[in-house]
Amino acid sequence: MRAPWLLLLALGCRTPSGDATPDEPGPPDTSDTDTDDTVPLRDAPVDHVVVLVLDGLRLDESFGEGVSDAAGTPTSEILPELRARVLPEGTLVRHGYVTGIPITGPGHCDLVTGVRQEFGHFPTPAGAGRYRPLFPTLFEDLARVGETAPLLINGNTDHIESLNRSVYPGVTDADGGVYQLTATEEDATRPAPRDTAVLDAVKAQLAADPPRLMITNLHAIDLAGHVAEDPTSYVGRAREVDAPIAALWEWIQSEESGIADRTALVLVADHGRHRWGDEADARMDEGLEPPDYRHHGDQCGGCREIPMFLAGPGIAEGAVVEGPYTLEDVSRTIAWMLGVDQPYGTGIVMRDLFVDAPTDADRSGTYRVDASGSAVATWSWLDEGGHRSRVEVDGEAVSSAAEFAAEAPRVLQAGGTTYACWRSFAVRDATEVDWPWVGKCAARTGGAWTDLAFPLDIVSSLWEPALAVDAAGRLVVAYVDNPNSTTYSEDRAFVRVLRWSPAAGDTPAAWDYTAETGIGTAFPGVPSLVVGGDTAWVAWSESDMTASGRDNAPGRYTRHVEVARFDLGASQAPTELWRTAVSACPDGAGCVDRTPTLDTEGRGYDRMESPALTADGAALRVGWIAWDADGSYVLTASSTDDGATWGTPARLDATGGVFGHVPPRWLDGRLYWAQLGAAGEAEACRAAPDAAPTCVALGSARVASLAPTAAGARVTIDTGEGAWASQEISW
Ligand SMILES: [Zn+2]
Ligand SMILES: [Zn+2]
Repeated sequence: MRAPWLLLLALGCRTPSGDATPDEPGPPDTSDTDTDDTVPLRDAPVDHVVVLVLDGLRLDESFGEGVSDAAGTPTSEILPELRARVLPEGTLVRHGYVTGIPITGPGHCDLVTGVRQEFGHFPTPAGAGRYRPLFPTLFEDLARVGETAPLLINGNTDHIESLNRSVYPGVTDADGGVYQLTATEEDATRPAPRDTAVLDAVKAQLAADPPRLMITNLHAIDLAGHVAEDPTSYVGRAREVDAPIAALWEWIQSEESGIADRTALVLVADHGRHRWGDEADARMDEGLEPPDYRHHGDQCGGCREIPMFLAGPGIAEGAVVEGPYTLEDVSRTIAWMLGVDQPYGTGIVMRDLFVDAPTDADRSGTYRVDASGSAVATWSWLDEGGHRSRVEVDGEAVSSAAEFAAEAPRVLQAGGTTYACWRSFAVRDATEVDWPWVGKCAARTGGAWTDLAFPLDIVSSLWEPALAVDAAGRLVVAYVDNPNSTTYSEDRAFVRVLRWSPAAGDTPAAWDYTAETGIGTAFPGVPSLVVGGDTAWVAWSESDMTASGRDNAPGRYTRHVEVARFDLGASQAPTELWRTAVSACPDGAGCVDRTPTLDTEGRGYDRMESPALTADGAALRVGWIAWDADGSYVLTASSTDDGATWGTPARLDATGGVFGHVPPRWLDGRLYWAQLGAAGEAEACRAAPDAAPTCVALGSARVASLAPTAAGARVTIDTGEGAWASQEISW
């Protein structure tokens, strides 16, 4: 329905301005930690893991084959020292992919947490604040089992500042790693322009106090591609680290380092760069800068294919494995090498890299669930390298067995028909330009499923629509139209509504309302939907734009809730009705000037996400998750004039432990959410807006999803060692 390159992004790794203040919380206080009480889950085969992220280095300019169009030479000639001195000492992954958003912040977030998720790029004026991953980082996985050695995320960019820990309930600065900026000598806030300075800092750290885990970003490679007058200098920046990385590895393996044969090296990129081939000219006609490898951020194969190499204890030497493996797989493999679990991790251990293949269980079972009426849709793990997940409805597979991944099902049962929508991804051949995620919708009436041919040729890696059926039996779908799920402006991502009408008389079934307009929105989250007649109300979370428009301006990523009305009748026009505002943008920081939304007790919040809408008699209600410095809460607000005006939001719970990765849901006038209970056990909770919550302990510390049902709720919980299970609970 539209050319994917219209929505391309070319802005992933911009020049840090240096005016953001790095937040360096200092090392965790470990003075009173009793390590006798907390031992790693298994004998760790590796004492130290050093990850060097070659920022934005395409496979074509690193460990691929063929000829680099950026260098004009065979790829094999670009990194001769690494090929001669390092590759023979470890295992090269031939097919390493970014299946998520091929941009620096999200790419590093996938690597650090092992879970693809919504993640912004830029810190708030006060540092990272609450703008952190929703899922625990590797640093927290290590801290949880008492690791006291330094845990570092460092490099010459502030894009990774907020990745030293998550906002998972109960996590504080003491539970994570430490962010260190490699700065210039003149200005401690200005990133060092050369990656060799970062490598010097890495060696100094390893010599002084070798971290258990150090994830290091080498940013100059990417930066040169974006901003250098001569874009081929991107290749020059890669060449610049070739011999220094080889020398660093040789030093690690020398007696002098003190960590020889106990340390693993991971070379990986957070994303590649465009590889548009013959399509480059046509895409440049759309106003993009030549040449194609200059930027990155879409769903092209060049952005998805990345260099991936591991060396160290137990890893085969001089080997090549086919894969495919993803950034999330690298993350879980790091966790395995360090002897810890990564309970929410979606990747698998890269077993065939090791001389003695690990036999520990990977993640398994049902990771997420949705429910409607008697229908249950599941996202379940597969134990095959080339097929990772599938979607089932009532135990029947609806996704294709040929796909690499099928995820995030939404299901709706109404009028004898069951509707399901999900996203899927297939691994492509390197000769294909686009490697997209695709949105799928199907309907089951009687026993058979019909493909509804969802009319969108490409969706984001986090696509998850909202479904409703109107009184006339038509399916309405609210969704985010944004192929790479991250944009920096309101003219590249849209919240839209579609409507599918079943066949009636001579009229065939069709998508008969296809909004071309939509509402422009920055970094939109998963929408929620209510339908009445020819009107659809949609709520979602989004980011404020800054007054300056600068990509990394403070406050760019302050999150709030938005509610809009879509007229599916005559006017076909969307109207923005209401929005909240957060308090994380101090005066003078260059943010959009907004008055923070306060709750009934006068409290403001720093971040708001995951709104859920419902129609409750004459009222529209919205419930959402909001963070302040003390924790995460559920708020609700109501409107009795069709969304034109809204009452003051009220806090529905007081625990501060709401799970940010489990969106709240309404059913029959009650809001349902998940939280971490006082005893460290996950709970499912529900409450009407004017009533006290009641909670049910789930028998696990972790919950991945929650869907209300007539009997109570369906949840997915961690039953141990990454085995997830769907369970029905009741109050
Ligand atoms: Zn990057
Ligand atoms: Zn691309």
